[in-house]
Amino acid sequence: MDTLKGKTAIVTGSSSGIGRAIALLFAREGARVAVTYHAGEERAREVIETIRSAGGTARAYRVDVADEEEVGELFRQVDGDWGDVDILVNNAGINGSNTPVEQMTTAQWDRVIRTDLYGPFFCCRAFLGLKRRYGTWKGSRIINVSSIHQWVNVPRNADYNAAKAALRNLAYTLALEVADREMTVNNIAPGMILTPINERVISDPELLKRAENIIPFHRGGTAEEVAAVALFLASEASSYVTGSTCKVDGALSILGPDA
Ligand code: NAD
Repeated sequence: MDTLKGKTAIVTGSSSGIGRAIALLFAREGARVAVTYHAGEERAREVIETIRSAGGTARAYRVDVADEEEVGELFRQVDGDWGDVDILVNNAGINGSNTPVEQMTTAQWDRVIRTDLYGPFFCCRAFLGLKRRYGTWKGSRIINVSSIHQWVNVPRNADYNAAKAALRNLAYTLALEVADREMTVNNIAPGMILTPINERVISDPELLKRAENIIPFHRGGTAEEVAAVALFLASEASSYVTGSTCKVDGALSILGPDA
């Protein structure tokens, strides 16, 4: 239970879903966890109280990852509270606008790209600034919760598909840039995970059944199944894994058209 003992982690969007599961697991494994929320301070409080009552260490921070200033402030606050940060998990994200390109407004496009792409970019850059100041590159980790949509496209989702595809190349480029310092940068690509982001599908039994039937595992994944992979990527066990993506999708993304 001490896989991350002595480490400090920032997990963006950890008041809910996958981020929440990652925060709880990292704390259980000994990390101090900065739980960030955007709206819904209540839910962030529940996460830090769950961590603290199990003997772990966590603090809640409000941030809109789409806002460069707020991201800078988040890193200043965590630095002031705990000093150096070892692990950054860029998890915060929103769904696409469910609109064909022909009808997509600039505001819809901007909202998704700013949250799902600029957000991780701002956080990565602030994290690198902190690493430079402390000079503690080796063993540091960036983990982006991307999506199978970094490769797989669905119509009406161009904003999300584009953001996640760009997040793939942001991660891979950064992995090369910091490779000589043995810092690792990896993505996780979930398929359909049963979290609030999929509320529309989850709350409709017929729709959920249809969606789950398409998945070769015939079920959606859990946030905990994604968190387990994040723990591996955060740990010493993944010391030579970088510039890669771990899929957590019940084989959904390798399914061919004739299945
Ligand atoms: P979720 O809605 O439960 O969690 C999303 C989190 O991001 C929330 O805590 C929310 O407050 C936060 N967030 C949203 N906008 C933000 C902003 N501007 N600034 C700061 N925080 C913000 O959904 P989830 O399924 O846990 O999603 C987490 C990540 O996983 C997202 O990046 C999502 O794209 C990705 N993902 C999810 C699935 C899935 O099926 N659930 C599949 C592939 C990828």
